Order: sequence, then structure tokens, then C-alpha cells
Amino acid sequence: MLELSHHSITEYRLPSTGELVPLLQIAPSKTDTERLLLVSPELTDVLSAMVNRLRAPNGAIPLVASYDIRERVWNPPMPLLFQRSIGSENRPFTPTAIRKLLINALAATGLTDAGGDPLMFSPHDFRRIFVTDAIMSGLPPHIAQVICGHKSIDTTMGYKAVYPAEAIEAHRAFIARRRTTRPSEEYRTPTDQEWDSFLAHFEKRKVSVGTCARAFGSPCVHEHACVRCSLLRPDPAQRPRLEEIRDNLKARIIEAKREGWLGEVEGLQVSLTGAKDKIAQIDTALQRPTGAVALGMPAFTSLAGRTTSTSPQS
Ligand code: SF4
Repeated sequence: MLELSHHSITEYRLPSTGELVPLLQIAPSKTDTERLLLVSPELTDVLSAMVNRLRAPNGAIPLVASYDIRERVWNPPMPLLFQRSIGSENRPFTPTAIRKLLINALAATGLTDAGGDPLMFSPHDFRRIFVTDAIMSGLPPHIAQVICGHKSIDTTMGYKAVYPAEAIEAHRAFIARRRTTRPSEEYRTPTDQEWDSFLAHFEKRKVSVGTCARAFGSPCVHEHACVRCSLLRPDPAQRPRLEEIRDNLKARIIEAKREGWLGEVEGLQVSLTGAKDKIAQIDTALQRPTGAVALGMPAFTSLAGRTTSTSPQS
């Protein structure tokens, strides 16, 4: 997470439909493959808020050099998303700083575990959560490599307007150095068949009540019972259709109970809960502000003669 830079945010336009697919490039490491992840609308909002917060007047994010504690090398200056200003300079967040922030944040909430002890999260916990989510919408690296600016470099070229050439080269060199630590077969060129099936995956995501967000290469897990499925991203335009499905399910449950088809009632109830859940998701999405998510900017207030930093949302 701390290695995410402005260059990590990229997009791919599907040739057949013109749909823009936002993607996040995760740099490879000795133990992890390079991944190009499909970004959810919520994460896109958060990333856009972070970029807006960091942008200098010329549109660029300040370049900062981070120390790689595992490889024991300084990385080249990059427009890292996780950076903060200390004194007159910008510095990257370190793992230790993140750990301290987490400890302080959890202490401030007063939350405890089942045994009454203070909750403890390590950055690694978030990594697990993130990776779980990422794998659900991840792509094989050898396909990712082709999408990620190494065949079509439109997005990288877009950055050229605001970043010096060395910053872009440094980012590429960083990725190339990390790639050398991975088995070479991860970076083979995809076959025509693999590439076609990759494109077909996106085209087949559209279902009647929304979009299926299952990972590339994974089968449908719920036998196309999309209303019950957590992988469905419901389409707000299909709210009336979902209401129809909900009302129909209610009527079928009443009929099943009347006729004594108790074996069916349970399954219908699950579908009804799913339909209600999808409608609630649409309503939540419609209530969400259309602009970027406000993460709260630190402000300074004077307390008893001391200057402290607070967030307007805290
Ligand atoms: S049931 Fe789930 S996984 Fe299958 S097509 Fe529908 S949304 Fe996708």
C-alpha cells in the first residue's frame, strides 16, 4: 500500500464497448506477484480524494524517495500517494508511522475485543483484507502486464504532461527491478485464446439487474442466481425490475406456505433477502455524494496555548 504512486492508477478502455475499467497496479515483490486490480467505485472515490489532496498547483504529486526496508535500498523519488508534509518537506509514510497511527486510532475509539482487551490491528491485517478483495477482482499478471502501460502506454503518456521524464523512467525501472525477482513464466505473452477470453469476460459481465463483478477466470459461484449473489453490482436503472422481483417473491412465499410447499419457502426467503439487499444497495449508492469522498483535511486549532492538529470529521 505504501508503494502506491500516482502512476499506479491506470485505466483500460474495452475495445468492444468503450467501457472504461479503472485499474490499480500493485508492484511485484519477492513474495508477491504483480497485480493489476479492478478498482471498485468506492476505492476510485477514495483514490481521487487522495490525489486531489496531494496535487501541487501544476497538477503533479510531490516526488518523494522512500526507503525499502526489506531490500535495504532507497527507491527513486516517486509521486507516492501515502506521503505527508513534515516541516518544509514531504516524506513518505513509513510502516512504523502507519502502525503508530493505527494504535492511536484504535485507542481513541475505545473498542475492545471479545476478551475486553484493546483492539490491535497491524498494517498486515489490512493487507489481508485488501488482498482478499483484490483476488476476487484480480487478473493474472501475464495478462495484466499487457494491459498495464507496457503495450498501451496512453495513461503513462498522460502523466508526461505533469511529471518529468525521469520520474516516469524511475517508476518503470522500479517495476522492472521488482519483476526480476519473480519467476519469468509470470510474464509470458498471453496467447490469442487467453486474450480473447479476457475481453469476453468483461463483455459477459452484464446481467439483467446489474454487473457481475466476479474475478476474471472464475466461474459463476451461484448458478446465475444473481439476486442472491454478493458479486452482483446492482444497476440503479434496474431498481423497478428488482422491486418486481421482490414483490413476485413475496407472492410466491405466500402461495408456497398456503399450498404447504415448505421445502420451497426457505429458498424463496433467501432470494427475497437478496432482492431487498440489492434494492438497499442501490438506495445507498444514490444517496452517496457524487463528488469525491471527503476524507477530512487536518486543521489546526489552538488548545490552551498549544497548537494541535485535528480532523474536521473527528
Ligand atoms: S450469480 Fe453472481 S457470479 Fe454468477 S453471474 Fe450472477 S452475479 Fe455473477
